[in-house]
Order: sequence, then structure tokens, then C-alpha cells
Amino acid sequence: MGEPVSIGRLERFLADWERDNGYQLPPKAEPTGKKVAVIGAGPAGLTVAADLVKLGHQITIFEALHIGGGVLSYGIPEFRLPKAIVNNEVNYVQKLGVELRLGNLVGRIQTIPELLKNGYDAVFIGSGAGLPTFTGCPGENLGGVYSANEFLIRVNLMKAFQFPEYDTPIRIGENVVVIGGGNVAMDCARCSIRLGSKVTLLYRRGREELPARHEEIENAEEESLECRFLAAPVEFYGDSKGWIKSMKCIQMALTEPDAKGRRGVKAVPGSEFMLDVDTVIIAIGQTPNPIIQRTTDGLQSDPKYGTITVNEVGKTSLDGVYAGGDVATGAATVISAMGAGKRAAKAMHEYLTNKQ
Ligand SMILES: Cc1cc2nc3c(=O)[nH]c(=O)nc-3n(C[C@H](O)[C@H](O)[C@H](O)COP(=O)(O)OP(=O)(O)OC[C@H]3O[C@@H](n4cnc5c(N)ncnc54)[C@H](O)[C@@H]3O)c2cc1C
Repeated sequence: MGEPVSIGRLERFLADWERDNGYQLPPKAEPTGKKVAVIGAGPAGLTVAADLVKLGHQITIFEALHIGGGVLSYGIPEFRLPKAIVNNEVNYVQKLGVELRLGNLVGRIQTIPELLKNGYDAVFIGSGAGLPTFTGCPGENLGGVYSANEFLIRVNLMKAFQFPEYDTPIRIGENVVVIGGGNVAMDCARCSIRLGSKVTLLYRRGREELPARHEEIENAEEESLECRFLAAPVEFYGDSKGWIKSMKCIQMALTEPDAKGRRGVKAVPGSEFMLDVDTVIIAIGQTPNPIIQRTTDGLQSDPKYGTITVNEVGKTSLDGVYAGGDVATGAATVISAMGAGKRAAKAMHEYLTNKQ
């Protein structure tokens, strides 16, 4: 009823205070004897696991990577979300009694039908949207052209910025072009700036249409990011050793808004221009990795976007199989993934309680 308050900062204060001052683990219900497999240790999977273990179910998370946290560990940079906070959350879920099996890619090591056959009463799929989208422009396979995922994984997860102390290198030159305009593009740009490069953001729409949060854009520009709006890549050119050295771009123009109010873009004929570039990072979106859909007969998914089809509580087309987070919505936010996890946990508890 009064002045607006900064809810995010208040929540952060509470979480920081609790972490610094210690917490008591919540009480747990009596064991139900029911086993649940959770695929993916990102925000959706961790939330489902924490809620269901408190209700007395036995939970195992199968995580493809060597650490938990999902995008919070491998994508979002340390300067925005310290890894110590993410580790703390993952440890908390383990302290509740959840088993975390790392390096375990479901769809390769075992499939969902196998998990269900081998004693699991229900499965939650929280495998995220980690498959990068590419531009399709010629020359995209040159050395020095990264997807945002690869770039962020190298830098954040594998600590390429500390190479050779850490094993994974990153080849980053003086001039970096980041293609895209969302939060992922901003993270790539801000990491590149910290690695010492001059960074240009290439975005095919205008400043008004930038999908990244205003705070992120302001921070990036304060840190020296240059933006080229209404511009798109056409072709990438390499040197004799196959490394990127320049790119052709084209000026774009906005079209009239469609029925949903969204303005399209079209290329302006004859407006091509060249940029000298040492590194290109493509941050134009991600979709779910199809490995689970391909290895699970009868699991319905969207034919265009690859997202798993769920109802409002996360139930998929298969009995006992639920899904939520980015794998169901497409790339979204941490809080929406956690919300989906909460709703699915409630529905799964009901399912498990009624299951003979
Ligand atoms: C660079 C970047 C910055 C972002 N910044 C923000 C932000 O500031 N605020 C915000 O709210 N959101 C942000 N997001 C979005 C947010 O991180 C995601 O929406 C959220 O992490 C989705 O959670 P999830 O649990 O669905 O999936 P994820 O976090 O992607 O976790 C999925 C997990 O499943 C694992 N996995 C995948 N396939 C398998 C398999 N077959 N078997 C086993 N494990 C598997 C993956 O390794 C991963 O650990 C950002 C995303 C990116 C990429």
C-alpha cells in the first residue's frame, strides 16, 4: 500500500543472513518407500528434489556435468552470481538427504524407461535448454567463433581465464563481436571485457527492443560495451589457418508491428559493411537438448522448439513422468524454473501417494 520496495534485495539480504548465521534443517516426513529420479541439478531439479525429499520420498538427481547448479554454475558469471552461493544451495539439498549422481547423462547412461523399470516410481525432467542456436551464416564453423554456451562454459565452469593453471584454454582476441541482445549476450560481452577485449554487440533490432534487463545493459555500457543496433551478420571470413578475421554485416530496418505488437526486421539492400574481428560469440538463443525426447517413446514435445509438453502442474504425456523449467518453457528465468519445480513436486507427491 505504500512506496514500492526492492523485493529482490530484501530476499537477498535474508538468504545472505541465513547463510552467514546458520540454519536448521527442516523436519522430514516418515519414509514413504517411493523412489524418484530427477534429471538435471539446475534450479528446477534442485527445487523438486528438495520438496519431495522433505515429504519422505527417496530422491536421486542425475546430472550430466561434474557439478550441480545448472546454468547458475556453468553459465552465469561469478561477478553476477558467486559460485559459493550456488554451491551452498546444492549442498543444502544434499544435506536434506538427496543423492546427487554427477557425470550422469540420462539418455546415454540410462534412459527414462530404464529408470522406471529399475525401481523408480516417478521421474522429473529438469534438463534445461542448453542447445545453442546458430546463425546459419557461411563461415560460422571457423575457429574463434563460439556459441555463448561454449564460451561461458569455458570461462565460468572450466576457468579458462586462469589457463594454464586450469586445463581449458580460451582464444579471445582484441576485437570481439557478440551477436544477440539478451541477458546471455550481456554476460558474454561482460566476460569478454574482463578478459581485456574491445567488445561490440551486434543486435538486429533497435535499443528499445533489446530483451536484456535494463540493469544489465547499463552495467555493460558502463564497462565500455559498444552497441551496433539494427545490424545482422551475413558471412564470416577466416585467415589461411582457419581462424576468423573479419565478418560481413548488413543494416536492418524495423517493420510495422504485427498483431502481437512485435516489430519484425528486414535487411536494407546494399547496406553491407565489414568488421575486423578476432572472436565472435553467438548468443541468439537456446533450445532443449533432444537426447531425452529421442530416447523416451511416447514423450510428447513441441516439434518446432523441442520443449517437452506438460500440463499446468508439469505432467507430461507419460504416466509418472513430469517436467519443468527451461526444458518445458524454453529459455526463461531461474524463478520460473523453481516455480515449475514447486508445482511439479506437489503433483508428484499426490501421484506417489496414490500409487500402489
Ligand atoms: C548466461 C545466462 C544468464 C542468465 N541470467 C539469468 C538471470 O540473470 N536471471 C534469471 O532469472 N535467469 C537467467 N538465466 C536463465 C536461467 O539460468 C534459466 O532459466 C534456469 O537456469 C533454468 O533452470 P533449469 O533448472 O530449467 O535448467 P538449467 O539451469 O539449464 O539446468 C539443467 C541441468 O540439467 C543438466 N542436464 C541436461 N541434460 C541432461 C541429461 N540428459 N541428463 C542429466 N542431466 C542433464 C544440465 O547439465 C544442467 O545442469 C540465464 C541463462 C543463461 C544461459
